[in-house]
Amino acid sequence: MTGSTFRERVCDALSDERARRAVMTATAEREERRRARWAELADVEGLRNIAAEIKQHTLDHLDAHLARFIEKLEELGVTVHGAADAAEAGRAVVEIAERHGCRSIAKSKSMLSEELDLNEIVERAGLEIVETDLGEFLLQLDGDRPSHITAPAVHKDVESCAKTFAEGLGVPVEREPKKIVAQARAHLRDVFRGADMGITGANLGVAESGTIALVMNEGNGRFCVHRPKAHVVVMGIEKVVPTLKDAAVIVKLLARSATAQKMTVDTHLITGPMRTGEPDGAEAMHVILVDAGRTRILAGAQRDALNCIRCGACLNVCPVYRTLGGHAYGGTYPGPIGKVLTGLLEDDPTCELPHASSLCNACRDVCPVKIDLPGMLVQLRQQQAKETGRPRGKLFVLRAMMWVMKSPMRYRMGQRIARLMMRIMGRKGWVTKGVGPVRGWTKGGRDIQTLPRKAFRDLWRKGRIG
Ligand code: SF4
Repeated sequence: MTGSTFRERVCDALSDERARRAVMTATAEREERRRARWAELADVEGLRNIAAEIKQHTLDHLDAHLARFIEKLEELGVTVHGAADAAEAGRAVVEIAERHGCRSIAKSKSMLSEELDLNEIVERAGLEIVETDLGEFLLQLDGDRPSHITAPAVHKDVESCAKTFAEGLGVPVEREPKKIVAQARAHLRDVFRGADMGITGANLGVAESGTIALVMNEGNGRFCVHRPKAHVVVMGIEKVVPTLKDAAVIVKLLARSATAQKMTVDTHLITGPMRTGEPDGAEAMHVILVDAGRTRILAGAQRDALNCIRCGACLNVCPVYRTLGGHAYGGTYPGPIGKVLTGLLEDDPTCELPHASSLCNACRDVCPVKIDLPGMLVQLRQQQAKETGRPRGKLFVLRAMMWVMKSPMRYRMGQRIARLMMRIMGRKGWVTKGVGPVRGWTKGGRDIQTLPRKAFRDLWRKGRIG
């Protein structure tokens, strides 16, 4: 995306027909499959309630669960680091690399590392870091960023993937997805063989056992954990859950919501570094617990946003996301959760994203941990209006509408004027080119149907209905 303001990014996104088609197709398929998987559960609502309670309880006692988690990790021989922000997290990775004499890093998918711009920090320190998730690897070669939480390259079609791999790896352009993947796999095998450090995120950290849960499908995370001599986990402090039983509930919903699977192909539980007698595993394991604004969010009115398990289901049902794709949002997290989290993480009360929603509630209905995203968006809009004042134009329009709607006579008159205007502007029953504030609406292909010549109430009064 070349634009820097929200409006510019939206215009850029709308003009990229190819990416829009790819996003629209992929999100519709994913949503259809998610619905089918959820329908298989005997009591999906019951499970969602349990998951929401687990997350809520954890947030309410986060300090205690984190303390227990750290204690368990240290008992297992894991070194725990705290990072208040991106710079501290990056510094910790570089220091760990120096301590263990590491130069090349194989990294698995982690949205937190995107949020921290970890790759840039690590590369500035002279280390080599390669993304090993297929989509992330493609984006790294392309100098691009993820546009979906669980499907980072959702905006790319097969043709553009083939071109990127051919240019980035110096291989022939292939047309078949299988052959394209084989090219990437061959390259990544050498990356794993040469890596002396592996970096992963963490879907969950289990307080009672010090276990890190990784929910993946490609097996690349396993190579990042077991092949290199040092394994570094970069984890947000909100990812902790009290028990393994709690983790099982979350994983069950996460896989179904994210990729419509009963279980992801590679659901990995790592409890400490390699022990004596074990055939593989990292000799040293480090966990970096990252705050980066999370304790501030925890103290605020939208703290429930921290319950997000990053399944991406809300993106797939969001009409705005499905139309625009992820880059227009400008932050790390796109879609409905991004509209809430971006301004909160950046501590930016003027963030425009809460306004980019039709408040249709679809995101709330699919969220496996029942986060009330539309409610939060309304709260954020209210807070913004209080702090920065309401836009005068909007205020005028709303007051005018209120004045009209308060009187039946004015309402009828308003309808007549609207009917007349639409008849002047409309062609064959549709207004395709609006004027004034309506122009932006119709420009995006959203034609407005003209009002019927006679209002229902007029026909009723004249006895032509009933
Ligand atoms: S807000 Fe809910 S639906 Fe959206 S990514 Fe997070 S957990 Fe998934």
